[in-house]
Parts: sequence; C-alpha cells; structure tokens
Amino acid sequence: MASIGRLSVKLLLLAHSLTYPLTPIFMSHYIRGRGRKVKIKKIDVFQKTYSMVGGKFVISGGKVATKQDSTIVRIETEDGLVGWGEQCVFSPSYLVAHGEGARAAIGLLAPSVIGMDPAIPELIFAQMESTMKGHYYAKAAIDIACWDLFGKSVAMSLSDLLGGTHRKEIPLYAPISMGSPEKMAVNCEKWIAKGYKRFQMKVGGDFLSDLSRVHACMQVLGDAEKTIFDANGNWSQHEAIRIVTALQGLDIYIEQPCASMEESARVRRHALQPFILDESLLTSQDILKAHESDAMDAVMLKISRFGGITPIRKARDLCMQLGLGLSIEDSGGGDIVTAAMAHLSASTPEKYFVNGFFTGSMVEERISEWGCRNSGGLGYLPEGPGLGIAVNENLLGPIVASYS
Ligand SMILES: [Mg+2]
Repeated sequence: MASIGRLSVKLLLLAHSLTYPLTPIFMSHYIRGRGRKVKIKKIDVFQKTYSMVGGKFVISGGKVATKQDSTIVRIETEDGLVGWGEQCVFSPSYLVAHGEGARAAIGLLAPSVIGMDPAIPELIFAQMESTMKGHYYAKAAIDIACWDLFGKSVAMSLSDLLGGTHRKEIPLYAPISMGSPEKMAVNCEKWIAKGYKRFQMKVGGDFLSDLSRVHACMQVLGDAEKTIFDANGNWSQHEAIRIVTALQGLDIYIEQPCASMEESARVRRHALQPFILDESLLTSQDILKAHESDAMDAVMLKISRFGGITPIRKARDLCMQLGLGLSIEDSGGGDIVTAAMAHLSASTPEKYFVNGFFTGSMVEERISEWGCRNSGGLGYLPEGPGLGIAVNENLLGPIVASYS
C-alpha cells in the first residue's frame, strides 16, 4: 500500500510538472482575450412579439398563450463588443412577469450599469440589486447580455464559463398542450414520429379527466425515455393525493402538482413517482426549503424567474450538491434566451440532467442564424464565444429605449 501511495504522489508530481508549463500559456490567452478592461457604453431595448407555433398553447387553469411579448437587450461596450439578452414570459397570467413591466424596470436598471465591466457579472448583478428590489425577470435580460459579453471578451463559450461543456446535443422534451385525452394522445404520436423520446404533458384539470389524459398518453408513450405530467400547480391537495395514488405503478414524473411546496410535500408522501417542482421555486432559499420539506426529487429551473445566469448557476450548483435532478428552460422567448438555456443545459453533468427544452421552438419567429436548431428530440448547442449566436437586428423591429 505504501508503494502505491508513493507512486500516486509521484504521478501527481509528474502531472503537475507536465501541466504547469501550460498554465502561463492559458493565462496569456486569457489576458490576450481580455486585452483591457471592458466597459458598458450603451444599452438598447427592443420589443418583439412572437406568435405561438400552432396558434396557441394551453396549460391548466385556462391559461392560453397565442402571442408572447419579448424584451430584447443589446449591450454595446466601449470597444465595440455587442452582447444580447432576452426576457419573455409565456403569459402574464402564468408567472409574475410582464413585457411592459420588464421594459419599465430596465429603464431604472440600465443607466445604473453603464460604465461597468460586463465581464464581472456578479458586480453587475449586485448593482442591479442595489438599484431595484425584486423584478428578477427584468434583471435576467441584462444579466444574460453581460454573460454573452463576458464570453466574447475572453473567447469562451457560456457553457465553458459555467463549468464546462458536457454535451453539445441536448435531449429535449416534447411539449404537449392540455386538451382532450384523445387529442393529447394524437399529439404525442406526432412528436414520436419526429423522433422525440421525452415528453411533458399538461394536466391540472379534474380527477377523472386527468386520469383519462394520463392513460391515453401512456398508451402511446410505452417506449418513451421520460414522461412528465405537469399540473402547473392547479391540483388541490386532496385531489392530487387521489391522482398520484391512482397512478402508482406508472413510470412517470409528476411536476408541480399543487401551488405551494408545502402542499406538494404532503402529496409526495402518498406518491411513488418522482416529483419535480417548478413555479414554487423562486430562489435558492426556496430550493433549500423544498428539499428540507422532502417536496421534490428534481427541479425545473427557469432562467428569468431566478434573474438570469448569475443567480441560476448558483441554484443549479446547489441542486447538484443536494442530489436533485435538473430540468432547464425558461417560460418563454426566442433564440436569445433559448441559447442561454442551451448553454446552461450543456454545462450540467449527465448525472443530474433530467431534460432540456428549447422554449424558442414554440414560437414562429427566428432572429438568429442558429434559430434554436434542433432535430429528432435533440437541441444543438450554438458554437462560438458567449451565447454563440449572431442576432439579425433587422428582425427585431425598432428600438423602444436606449441608455448611454
Ligand atoms: Mg412546469
């Protein structure tokens, strides 16, 4: 054993002696990439309206989206680098976010970060926090643009900045809008034909209707890798207990059965299926609280709900420390915010990664050459520094506000 220990030490010393000369090379690349301090010179804000693919998407509680009101941020530095951020909610009736609200909040936030270095996003976020409490969805647009600039300033992709690129092809789930059991089963078959192996079905109606929806979908999803039934918090506690009890034996996940984590924790005591929480998690503190309450096995992280890349990378890393699975997405938006989702997904280790989703694929309009590229149930990570996408400004419409 002693000789093995000495051998290990020798191998470590050898490895260090081999890699040590590389360190200055890497650092010189880093320093070359950074060149000099980067400063934010100007922030332009665009409003973009997206149309839902298929005309509409329905979730529980009668919430329907036909259009999405997106806020896009373009940050330019004094040396001419440009970074992009986006915030967009599926519908103001779904989450605490509103397009006009985001643009009004950015009216306060943007002037406060002019002159700051976007490659130090923690300081930018702290500045936004000191300028305005809450309104995290609005902060997300500026924060994502700063991470895009950070990557461009050091010639590194966002996924590498977030810890390393574990995958360039991201398994995506197929989104199945809430409808009649028959219609949902037909929709599942359409997505199966496209090559999808993971599915998220919207439920959240009454007990009998939802049981019918689950059984109709599972009849055609026998070969699926992962099937999630998402009630979007619309079940009452007692109905949710009846539903999970009736579904015991099915290989499914249950997502956000009830509105609060406390209700969901009580339901989970009666369930054999893994639970994912989504809407009731707004901060890392919420994740800790839900974990201590045994309310979930996995977390659905939505970038803008946490306030952007800066807070969500901490939430992501906390979840991994707690052994929780991770689905990664946002509630709405197009190519820019979807590129951010792709990088966060790509940098999450396989052991913890449950699902990705390209929210931008739910809207008709494309604004970059990458265009949320996906095929056969896999989303493709954009290549290049930062977000790795080239936004076509001609497709954004007029600038609605500019700060310098
Ligand atoms: Mg959900």
